[in-house]
Amino acid sequence: TMDYGPALESKSEALAWLAQHDNLVGHFINGKWTAARDDFATSNPATGEKLAGVTKGTPADIAAAVAAARKAQPAWAKSGHKRARVLYAIARLMQKHARLLAVMETLDNGKPIREARDIDTPLAIRHFYHHAGFAQLMQDELPDREALGVCGQIIPWNFPLLMLAWKIAPALAMGNTVVLKPAEYTPLTAMVFADICMQAGVPAGVVNIVMGDGETGAALVTADVDKIAFTGSTEVGRKIRQATAGTGKALSLELGGKSPYIVFDDADMDSAVEGLVDAIWFNQGQVCCAGSRLLVQEGIADRFYAKLKARMDGLRIGDPLDKCIDIGAIVDPVQLAQITAMVSGNREGETYQTKAPEGCFYPPTLITGLSPASHLMQEEIFGPVLVATTFRTPVEAVEIANNTRYGLAASVWSENINLALDIAPKLAAGIVWVNGTNMMDAAAGFGGIRESGFGREGGWEGLAGYTRPKTSAKPVKRIAPFGSAGGTAT
Ligand code: NAD
Repeated sequence: TMDYGPALESKSEALAWLAQHDNLVGHFINGKWTAARDDFATSNPATGEKLAGVTKGTPADIAAAVAAARKAQPAWAKSGHKRARVLYAIARLMQKHARLLAVMETLDNGKPIREARDIDTPLAIRHFYHHAGFAQLMQDELPDREALGVCGQIIPWNFPLLMLAWKIAPALAMGNTVVLKPAEYTPLTAMVFADICMQAGVPAGVVNIVMGDGETGAALVTADVDKIAFTGSTEVGRKIRQATAGTGKALSLELGGKSPYIVFDDADMDSAVEGLVDAIWFNQGQVCCAGSRLLVQEGIADRFYAKLKARMDGLRIGDPLDKCIDIGAIVDPVQLAQITAMVSGNREGETYQTKAPEGCFYPPTLITGLSPASHLMQEEIFGPVLVATTFRTPVEAVEIANNTRYGLAASVWSENINLALDIAPKLAAGIVWVNGTNMMDAAAGFGGIRESGFGREGGWEGLAGYTRPKTSAKPVKRIAPFGSAGGTAT
C-alpha cells in the first residue's frame, strides 16, 4: 500500500506517484499487484508524453481474477453491514485523495481539470456513499433477493473513474465480487482506486482489476462470470450480446447515443445556449448522452445560431490542467482522426468551427442545415461536434428527434411547461431532461432503449440489476383476505 502523504496538488506529484510504481501498471488480483509489463503505453493526449507502460491481461490473468472473485464472494455476501463499512471507507479515502484522482484523470484522459475535479471525482465518490447506504439496507429491505455472484465489468475511456464507480459500487453493495477491465487509453485512476481498496480494507478477491484491450475484454466475456456489465460502443455491445447469448449470464449494455436537444421558440435562449455548452462541449463531446443533435424551431433558428456561435468563440481550448480551460484534448490521436474524417467527409450544410491548438485537439464545431437523414445526423461522432436542423411544429420535432436508431437521452427547452411535459413522454429515450442536460445522480437510473442498450445504472433499477429474486422456502404467515372467514389465502 502506498503512503500518499499530504493531498496531492499538482501534475508533478501525480507523476511522482506513478514513478513510485516504476511507471508500470499491472493487474490487481486477489488483493495484490501482479508483476507488471510494458505491453502498451498510456499517454497524456494533451502533450503526447508517455505516462506509463500497461500490462495486457491474458486469458490466464482473467481466469486467476475470476477464481479469486469466486472464492471471495460467499463471505462478502454474508453481511450487508460489513459491506457498508468497507464502501464508506472507500468513499472517504477517495475524498481524501480526490486531488490525485482528478489530476491523474486529466493527465490520462485529457479532460479539463475543472471537470475532473468538480464533476467526475465528486460524482464517483457520491456513488460509493449512496451505495454504502444501500448495502446496509439490503439485508432488511431486499430479503428475497440475492447477489448474482461474480460480475465481469468492462468500461470505456471517457469517464474512467466515474464509470468504474457506476460498475463497482452497486455490485459490491449487493454482495457480488467483481473483475473490472478499464479501457486501454485510461487505466491510471483504476490503478489509484486499487490502492485505495487496499487501504479501505476491501477483502482480497472482492475487487479485481485486469488491464488490457478488447482482447482482454473478450476473454472476460467468455470467462466463468455470472454477469457482464458493459459500457462502450454499440458495435462491441452487439458482439458481447452474441457471445453471452444462451450462456445464462446476466447482461447490461450502456451503449452509444445521438441524443436530441430540442429548442422551442419560447425557450429562454441564453439558458438553452448555455445548456448546449454542457450538452456537447462537456468532456470534448465524448459523452454517451451528449446532446449532439440540435433541433431548433424555425422562427428562432437564425437568432439562436448567432448566439451559439458567439458563445463558441468564447470557449477556451487548450492545456487540460489549466483551471480556466473549457475544452481539453481528445483522448487519443485515433479518436481525433475519426472525428476529423467524419466532419471532413461531410458535404452538406454549413460548418462553423473555432480554432484549436496543434496536437490532439479538435475545435468546437457547429454544422447547420443538415437534413434529418444525413450521415452526420444519424451517426455518433463522439467529439465536440454539434449537428443542427430546424423543425416547424411540436409533432415534427418529436418525429425528427425519434428518427435515429439510438435512444439514450433527450433535452427539451421551452418556457411552456405544458408543452415540455407533453413532448417528454413522446421521446424515445431512457432519460429526458427539461430545461437542463447531462444531469446525473446516483439515486436515478441511467440507461437507454433501442441501440443505446438496456439495463439501468444507479437508482433502484441499478441495484436490482446486481441481484436476482430468490423465493424463500420458509413458510410465511398469510393474512386472510377481507371477507373470508379465515380460509386459505388465494
Ligand atoms: P469500445 O466499445 O471500443 O470500448 C469499450 C470497452 O470495451 C473498452 O474497455 C475496450 O477495451 C473493450 N472492448 C473492446 N472490444 C471488446 C470486445 N470485443 N469484447 C469485450 N470488450 C471489448 O468503446 P470506446 O471507444 O471505449 O467508448 C466510446 C463508446 O462508448 C461510444 O460509442 C459511447 O457512446 C459509448 N459510451 C456509452 C456510455 C453509456 O452509458 N451508454 C457511456 C460512455 C460511453
